[in-house]
Amino acid sequence: MHSLRSNKGGSQSALAIVAIVCTVIAVYFIVKQTRPKQQATSGGVFYYCTSCQKEFAAPDQDPPIKCPHCNQMAGVYLRKCKCNKCGKAFRAYLLKWDLDVKQRREQRRRGENVPYGEDESELISEPDTDNWFSSASPEGIYILGNIACPECEASGENIEPIFPKTDEE
Ligand SMILES: [Zn+2]
Ligand SMILES: [Zn+2]
Repeated sequence: MHSLRSNKGGSQSALAIVAIVCTVIAVYFIVKQTRPKQQATSGGVFYYCTSCQKEFAAPDQDPPIKCPHCNQMAGVYLRKCKCNKCGKAFRAYLLKWDLDVKQRREQRRRGENVPYGEDESELISEPDTDNWFSSASPEGIYILGNIACPECEASGENIEPIFPKTDEE
């Protein structure tokens, strides 16, 4: 009787250990997923100027932003990726907001009650083209879903986003 009870206690603590392990794994993945975002805020993100065609790094904010080289409001978010197969770094796509949507997002951040419009999706362009599509449109979905290395055509798991280097690195 006594040993039966202690067995029961043993399986309960085994269950508790499983629960703790699951929690640790879950926390690990949450931290892992949020880490790129933290890197992005510390080192900023890449921008590309559609006016003077230069790249620059700046804190993460709603593009378009002012380009430090030519002072035009033409700095759009630049998603840069690295191919883990051949090591090539490349431009994957450009992203910006419609000026009207950008303004509404800023108003909402200030706490203003701004109703949502028809399509407030971000605009996506292939790099070096300045030809914009809603991220919800077939063209936008195609650009976002077909990121591949221009050198060796690797895609999916082999492609990872890169961010500007920070001073601590
Ligand atoms: Zn510029
Ligand atoms: Zn490659």
